[in-house]
Amino acid sequence: MSDAIARLRKLPSVDQLLQTEAGAAAVDRFGRPGATAAIRSVLAEARLAVREGQMLPKTDALAVAALELLEIGERSPLRQVFNLTGTVLHTNLGRAVLAEAAIEAATAAMQAAVALEYDLDTGKRGERDDHLRGLLCELTGAEDATVVNNNAAAVLLVLNSLAAGKEAIVSRGELIEIGGAFRMPDIMAGAGARLIEVGTTNRTHLKDYVGAIGPQTGVVLKVHPSNYRIEGFVAEVSARELAEVCRVTGAPLVNDLGSGTLIDLRRFGLAHEPTVWEAVADGADLITFSGDKLLGGPQAGFIVGRKNLIKTINQNPMKRALRVDKIRLAALEATLKLYRDPDRLAERLPTLRHLARPLEEIAAMAQRLAPAVQKALGEGLMTSCAECASQIGSGALPLSSLPSAGLALAPKKGGGRALDQLTAAFRRLPIPVIGRIENGALLLDLRCLEDEAGFAANLASIDPALGAGGFDEMA
Ligand SMILES: *Cc1c(COP(=O)(O)O)cnc(C)c1O
Repeated sequence: MSDAIARLRKLPSVDQLLQTEAGAAAVDRFGRPGATAAIRSVLAEARLAVREGQMLPKTDALAVAALELLEIGERSPLRQVFNLTGTVLHTNLGRAVLAEAAIEAATAAMQAAVALEYDLDTGKRGERDDHLRGLLCELTGAEDATVVNNNAAAVLLVLNSLAAGKEAIVSRGELIEIGGAFRMPDIMAGAGARLIEVGTTNRTHLKDYVGAIGPQTGVVLKVHPSNYRIEGFVAEVSARELAEVCRVTGAPLVNDLGSGTLIDLRRFGLAHEPTVWEAVADGADLITFSGDKLLGGPQAGFIVGRKNLIKTINQNPMKRALRVDKIRLAALEATLKLYRDPDRLAERLPTLRHLARPLEEIAAMAQRLAPAVQKALGEGLMTSCAECASQIGSGALPLSSLPSAGLALAPKKGGGRALDQLTAAFRRLPIPVIGRIENGALLLDLRCLEDEAGFAANLASIDPALGAGGFDEMA
């Protein structure tokens, strides 16, 4: 006991630690109050350890530990990661990666005052939607357009503007939950619309809609069943047929496309997803879709369609609460402009570039990376090239999978526990690597990997215990 007390007295003071090289670096980078607090915390832990009989730590090691503590605290939880999940538009990983042009436009908008709501011709107050209105009409064929925070907000705003205190008619086969808290019936309730369900889960007919439409109808809503499909004995009414009935009865038809795309994806070897242009041509009065799904831009929700309805929407005070800022408007404008040149779209828009990436290119990258990965991970693991299937994600084309390639990393022993430790070690890398578990291995789908050299360099920081095959020794 007295031995421990004697050793405790030998622990350096806060001031002594501040004067070490690491201590000085901590003050320089994080400020004196932060450096002092980190040193106190490291010293408190050292005192506990010494009381428990451990050796007296070295002064320099204590200062370095304090500096590391500060560095960890400084790391943003919103860190860049390698998305090797195989899901291109991964909602939990931020969906679309923006195009270079969008990044430049957003940066420019951040750096200076911009004519956001200012008409440079007249010198009078302008409208924030004007920046995108023309482009959206050009790309969709719609009469008018507006933009809000996301597609959930677009649906909410449309329902609240047109159907508050009235009825919103929707097929039982389209009462979807997208994920999170987005459930169509809840959004309806939140918008103050009374939900009128028609048809059945698997079959809804035109007569079901016709029977429900009446003087209380605020909107007829058609919803893209984004993330699921009903197969077998099914019937749904097309937007075109529904538009005809709505036109005759005067009830506005709203088509929530969900992902929505501005271009026919068959051009890029993908399955057909209804385009916004087609939805407009089919006669819906309003169409809603996302900015950060297949469109490949920042988070946003678009509403396009009839001028008088867009006007009503823009007059709803709720619009103000859901509007987007100058940074996103700038990024959206730059993203939309890329669609004017479809031939170069796959090259310029990361979302499409990843979706349209040829399998041979991905497989060749797996071949190139496999030896380096095996070397970095050591003998405890088996690294092999693997065929796999990517998904689009975010509810777009849920049944389409894209043949892809990647690396399968399998611990030679230790089973599921070793696999958990392996995935955790990848999440702890300087740039965390997120893959998926498949067939007893950590599968890294390389479809979305562009920075091959960065990925390889990142692996040098893998927990060395992995290399020794010593999974159990890992923290
Ligand atoms: C994804 C989706 C939404 C929600 O869009 P966000 O942009 O995520 O808010 C709404 N409706 C459908 C059909 C969707 O697929």
